[in-house]
Amino acid sequence: MKVLVINAGSSSLKYQLYNMNDESVLASGRVERIGMDSSIVTHDAAGKPEVRSVSEILDHVTAVKRVIEMLVHPELGVLKRIDEIDAVGHRVVHGGEAFKESVLVTPEVKLEIRKLFDLAPLHNPAHMMGIAAVEANLPDVPQAVVFDTAFHQTMPETSYLYAIPKVLYRRHKIRRYGFHGTSHQYVSDKAARLLGQPLESLKMISAHIGNGASVTAILHGRSYDTSMGLTPLEGLMMGTRSGDLDPAIVPFAMAKEDLTMSEVSSMLNKHSGLMAISGSTSDMREIVEAMREGDKNAKLAFDMYTYRIRKYIGAYAAAMNGLDVIVFTAGVGENSVELREAVCSGLTFLGVELDRERNAERRKDPRIISTDNSRVRVLVVPTNEELLIARDTYRLVLQTKKPDDRSKEIIEKVE
Ligand code: AMP
Repeated sequence: MKVLVINAGSSSLKYQLYNMNDESVLASGRVERIGMDSSIVTHDAAGKPEVRSVSEILDHVTAVKRVIEMLVHPELGVLKRIDEIDAVGHRVVHGGEAFKESVLVTPEVKLEIRKLFDLAPLHNPAHMMGIAAVEANLPDVPQAVVFDTAFHQTMPETSYLYAIPKVLYRRHKIRRYGFHGTSHQYVSDKAARLLGQPLESLKMISAHIGNGASVTAILHGRSYDTSMGLTPLEGLMMGTRSGDLDPAIVPFAMAKEDLTMSEVSSMLNKHSGLMAISGSTSDMREIVEAMREGDKNAKLAFDMYTYRIRKYIGAYAAAMNGLDVIVFTAGVGENSVELREAVCSGLTFLGVELDRERNAERRKDPRIISTDNSRVRVLVVPTNEELLIARDTYRLVLQTKKPDDRSKEIIEKVE
């Protein structure tokens, strides 16, 4: 079975085509600047040269059409016919309380996603455009949706409620949802397999540290608490997001600086975090380099950033009354030796002992970076949200097949 994974943004669309028999990526690419002058399509198929083309792509329907053309292209493609695409899986940022797991797309599901536009105004409408564009191009192909929030739906009330009047929760569903759920789920599962222990037996903290960043307490395989909240602004200090702050700062800054609501929102989401404190960049590579050259602002940004991760890990170890495993993932978590060292060096009281040589190895595979004696095991696990979306889509589509077709598919996969 071949599954196309799509992550649709308002002006971009990323895709991967998976062969689910061996979970290999047959092709991947992206369409950028949809609806603008000079849209760019980048396409990379296994064993073929990467191509980049510039053309006019006015909407998502045309973008998906162009993706399919690339996939069946006689020289650059990987499929002979369009009908080799068996299913399409979409990333959807917000599933609210309606979606506790991935589902197949139905008219009811689309209606529910629409109802959540208020909670994710930048993301969910774009995902819906992606779903509609696939419907227009591949009307008979089943589609599934995989939500960034679903994994965190297991959080107890004590974790997800804000201590504000309950009417705001009842009327407007103002509560903590958490994000990066697909990534936290993928790496926690992978970490347990690597350790050869059942996930259900472990107290784990996964740290997804990328441009956006969140930490999740995973108690016996289920999300127990996570640092992002109603929106991805809460929690850790991030590339350009402030993370946690006193909510009184919002009206205070608005009054003192004569700012509008949207200006404050833009300040906290786009002009804060590493960018604000370093004064120059939100990219951790550049922060570390500037720090080495003696830049004091970069050092302060790095110290604040790592201090907050450490604080959350300490808090979540207390929340779970113990800790067995810490997993680092995403752009910074997977690649920054300095960040992992700084975070772990303040966690020795918990029984965290990092192995300096293992931590310094530049590898791409999942691995243990703590010493053999460390009571808490520390791992680096490269995240793969697209693969989890492909797997969920494959599983959901397989469930709808007739028993005979299903066993044929499973035999093919095993072979
Ligand atoms: P992500 O959002 O997961 O794609 O992560 C993107 C971020 O990862 C970038 O903004 C970089 O700051 C960071 N990053 C990527 N490579 C490295 C590296 N070698 N060292 C430190 N940070 C890195």
